[in-house]
Amino acid sequence: MSDIVYLNGGFMPVEEARIPVLDRGFIFGDGVYEVIPVYSKRPFRLDEHLRRLQYSLDKIRIANPHTAEEWQRLTGEIVKRNDGKDQSVYLQVTRGVAKRDHAFPKGIKPTVFMMSSPLVTPAPALVESGVACVTAEDYRWLNCDIKSVSLLGNCLLRQLSADAGAAETILFRDGNLTEASSSNVFVVKDGRLLTPPKDNLVLPGITYDVVLEIAHAREFEVEIRAVTVAEVRDADEIWVTSSTKEVLAVTTLDGKPVGDGKPGPLFRRMHALYQQFKKDHMRIAA
Ligand code: PLP
Repeated sequence: MSDIVYLNGGFMPVEEARIPVLDRGFIFGDGVYEVIPVYSKRPFRLDEHLRRLQYSLDKIRIANPHTAEEWQRLTGEIVKRNDGKDQSVYLQVTRGVAKRDHAFPKGIKPTVFMMSSPLVTPAPALVESGVACVTAEDYRWLNCDIKSVSLLGNCLLRQLSADAGAAETILFRDGNLTEASSSNVFVVKDGRLLTPPKDNLVLPGITYDVVLEIAHAREFEVEIRAVTVAEVRDADEIWVTSSTKEVLAVTTLDGKPVGDGKPGPLFRRMHALYQQFKKDHMRIAA
């Protein structure tokens, strides 16, 4: 079966989907997106993803082309029409098609695109071993809270780790941790879980929120505050989180072991709790 995508009101095989070259998503990267993990055909934290979509759209001044109920229905349809129980649903809204001009054109309709791919979460061996990461200066713009399709900075930064055979690039700005090229970052020091606050320098991760929800419920000691470069370099544990990575331990940073170079005890606990949280969620959503 070929992949079925949604484009501007219709479902079709991906090979048949076409957008005009003057789409502002193509010309300017003028649009926003979401990636929603789907387990056993059930979208995980869909309401939260749709709220973040609304936030991103508001920030770039595009009127939401759909109500939450319409988005829920479209997400359900794309999941149903594609193979596989566990999927990663991608949705994108751009400002639409117009003659090239930086200023917003009047009276155009946003382009809405959705697709689904198999959800590939980290293999058990990777969860056991942890991953290597490198670091870089965060030179992206100052609106990293917008889930913008303009991802050139993130792609260039991610490629640094790809070139080094590592899983992620962890980013520092003005001496503090921000996030990674496509994940949020947590640090453990002396039994305390540290992570930067959600501000304009990081994407407000849905997984970040789940991890904090679990941490609070299980009475982990948590500090949401600026985390310095020195604290990251001296951490007992480092985790990266995202909808597709879930929670993953970082075991080497710039070639040096993190802690004892193995996934730490707090990571093991959080990873197990996260898996349980997913199962509970799927039972509730059934
Ligand atoms: N930070 C960045 C820059 C990202 O691109 C992502 C996800 O793609 C995240 C954080 C994690 O967000 P989420 O947990 O919602 O997947």
